[in-house]
Amino acid sequence: MTAVDNRTPGETRRVHVREVGPRDGFQNEPETIRTADKIALINALGRAGFERIEVASFVRPDVIPQLADGVEVLRGIDVPDTVRRMVLVPNSRGLDNALKVRELFEDVTLFVSSSQTHNQRNINRTVEQTMDDVAVMGKRVVAEDLTFCAVIATAFGCPFEGHIPIDRVLDLAEQFAAAGATEIGFGDTTGMANPAYVSRFFSAAVERLPGVELTAHFHNTRGQGLANAYAALEAGCTSFEASFGELGGCPVPAGSTGNISTEDLVSMFHEMGVETGVDLDALLVAARQAQAVLGRKLTSHSIIAGPVLWSTATP
Ligand code: ZN
Repeated sequence: MTAVDNRTPGETRRVHVREVGPRDGFQNEPETIRTADKIALINALGRAGFERIEVASFVRPDVIPQLADGVEVLRGIDVPDTVRRMVLVPNSRGLDNALKVRELFEDVTLFVSSSQTHNQRNINRTVEQTMDDVAVMGKRVVAEDLTFCAVIATAFGCPFEGHIPIDRVLDLAEQFAAAGATEIGFGDTTGMANPAYVSRFFSAAVERLPGVELTAHFHNTRGQGLANAYAALEAGCTSFEASFGELGGCPVPAGSTGNISTEDLVSMFHEMGVETGVDLDALLVAARQAQAVLGRKLTSHSIIAGPVLWSTATP
């Protein structure tokens, strides 16, 4: 077997691939995964070369019982120093709790939904109230010398409100940047994006937010996740979030898939000659381990097909 280099001569591109499965994935799985299993899976992801793994969320345990053991998980994992451990914080109470164990993570994500209705239903605040909170919380995050990351949900459309104007989303992104966020993620929460729209969106975002790391977070609800990732890449986006095993990620409507799978995304990038720093074989080991833990087949294509093997003997 001989690898085929698909790169355009002279071209080397490098992107960041962020693993969100332990938070966005585990949270949306029907089963509550045992703490020891979560720790083993995160350790396996740690061996795959990720620069960042979203490990836990400081939400109320009665709201999301699947993540109630967040601090135990943070304490139990053993990942290389090169892996930034990220936590999701929904409000100032969550930030208070997170900062009690400040030494266990490096990155904090604060979030809002660009849709008023979705934001109300998700965290019971208006968008304006949330952005006021963000300004206060962001200062605390920065003062603690933590990396302040932001996520804007329903950035490509809302199941309640429909189309959300690009300018409204980017206005929120600018507010996050002004509050100290150095990275801003755009979530396609219920899989409403299409590649042409993603291209327009990221072209505008790159222009309006110079110096801010822009991250694409696509869902494969309608099978367009990887096409959207490709469109974002071509429009200048260099950072992507995905979930190993295609775990979790807001399966709305019920029964649909959520996040794009990290192994499919990494496989696509590598075949295109785009470097990720992720070891696909090690990632597949982690994804298959998740399959064993959950006791059911997971739906990522690369788990089933394995990595691409090029053979010079094949016409
Ligand atoms: Zn997601």
